[in-house]
Amino acid sequence: MNSPESPDPALHVLRHTFGFGAFRGEQAAIVEHLQHGGDALVLMPTGGGKSLCYQIPSLLREGCGIVVSPLIALMQDQVQALELLGVRATYLNSTRSAEEAAAIEQQLLAGELDMLYVAPERLMTPRFQNLLGRARIALFAIDEAHCVSQWGHDFRPEYIQLSILHERFPEVPRIALTATADAATRQEIVERLALQSARLFVSSFDRPNIRYTVVEKDNPRKQLLRFIRSNHEGDSGIVYCLSRKKVEETATWLKSEGIRALAYHAGFDAATREAHQTEFVRGDGVVMVATVAFGMGIDKPDVRFVAHLDLPKSLEAYYQETGRAGRDGLASNAWMAYGLQDLVLLREMIEQSQAPDEVKRVERQKLDALLGYCEATACRREVLLRYFGESSTPCGNCDMCLTPPETFDATVPAQQALSTIYRSGQRYGAGHLVDILQGRATAKVTERGHQSLSTFGIGKSLSDAQWSSLLRQMAAQGLVGVNEHGGLVLQESCRAILRGEAAFMARKVRESAPGGASSVRR
Ligand code: ADP
Ligand code: ZN
Repeated sequence: MNSPESPDPALHVLRHTFGFGAFRGEQAAIVEHLQHGGDALVLMPTGGGKSLCYQIPSLLREGCGIVVSPLIALMQDQVQALELLGVRATYLNSTRSAEEAAAIEQQLLAGELDMLYVAPERLMTPRFQNLLGRARIALFAIDEAHCVSQWGHDFRPEYIQLSILHERFPEVPRIALTATADAATRQEIVERLALQSARLFVSSFDRPNIRYTVVEKDNPRKQLLRFIRSNHEGDSGIVYCLSRKKVEETATWLKSEGIRALAYHAGFDAATREAHQTEFVRGDGVVMVATVAFGMGIDKPDVRFVAHLDLPKSLEAYYQETGRAGRDGLASNAWMAYGLQDLVLLREMIEQSQAPDEVKRVERQKLDALLGYCEATACRREVLLRYFGESSTPCGNCDMCLTPPETFDATVPAQQALSTIYRSGQRYGAGHLVDILQGRATAKVTERGHQSLSTFGIGKSLSDAQWSSLLRQMAAQGLVGVNEHGGLVLQESCRAILRGEAAFMARKVRESAPGGASSVRR
């Protein structure tokens, strides 16, 4: 036990410099590890308190802590906050004049800085590398470390070169931090930043105050309006859309419905973007309709909801985007409207891209994981957390927990579907397969001779919509895969179902949603 007179130095800094009573979660362990020269990879959700993990060791160790951050706005905010606490911090990026930069370099060499925030492209210049060689460095902190991932949504080419830090300054401890990294991205960070011997600190990614809901797209705008009116009258929120056009249309429409909506996308000039962002952050009850260009680095604690009118790129992206809700810890909503068209579109985007095969393979896996979330028949939070390698129990605060869907034993229909896929040669899309199951002798069916398959017409007891939904659920659970032409193919895991060794429970389609689930045809 520490006596009051000689507290642990880290705790002393936490209390006296930052004014906090105690460390949160893994902070204490991370700070101690860094303080003694260890490398660390820190995965902590947004709002978890990553900054202190490198700020305190920077103050405890001799020399200046160098913080690499891709976000200019955030850099300036953090430095300002540190200055107010009496910490000697500053930043170097493209907004600095040559004279300012030269003065900062002098301060660094003279040992007058506790912390220096640097943009990655600046850090890698020969001039700055040379400077680092002559300065005393407490540690390197690499913030938003997932930017090193070429397959991620925030890839920054300059991040790739950051492994040089380790080669040039092997004795300086490094800490890489991110709020968003699935197992594959984590591995990529370790490899690209040469963090093989770093200690891994993973905090729980759960955001218990966020309620997750996915609705099947029917009339998305109306659904959104209903969602806002019944849950978030007068609240601040973010609505994400895929295209700039849709952003503008949706914002205009919400405004016409009396909602204080603003639009944001990269097509607006800087002044407009800045004005809208400021109004959102400072104002009360502004709904920002935006592309994913909006959000990174926005520090607004009372965002009450994040809505998606289009599917995000991946579950990671979804987690990050929805993570902007409820940073103050109060009840918030993550709401998404999901339609099969979104999925088909994203799949086509992957297949038609010029990316190398292995990139496409990873993108496909990411899309499948997202699909698994949308099609979940049980707790969504469990799906989300499992994706980040965390196990959990049903949360009681998602749509699936609150109003469990009706399910039925679909083992026999699943077997019928699997056998139809197999017998027709594993290359047809859902529409054609449903035609066979329903016993419809369409031109395509007769042309391929599929009316003589033993499964022709055996599925008449289910509706088209239920069949489409069933096939989608089977795809979501990995029993079948989808090839690049939209054809369904069997996967290893379907064997147990075919042999009757495992049951397949499926969600019932609500037939009252016309046109919803049956749009699988292409
Ligand atoms: P992140 O970078 O992980 O999103 P921040 O470092 O910005 O999170 O911290 C989020 C908020 O939590 C900040 O307002 C910060 O001051 C606060 N915070 C961090 N650690 C502690 C702590 N140990 N005690 C109290 N507040 C903390
Ligand atoms: Zn749940």
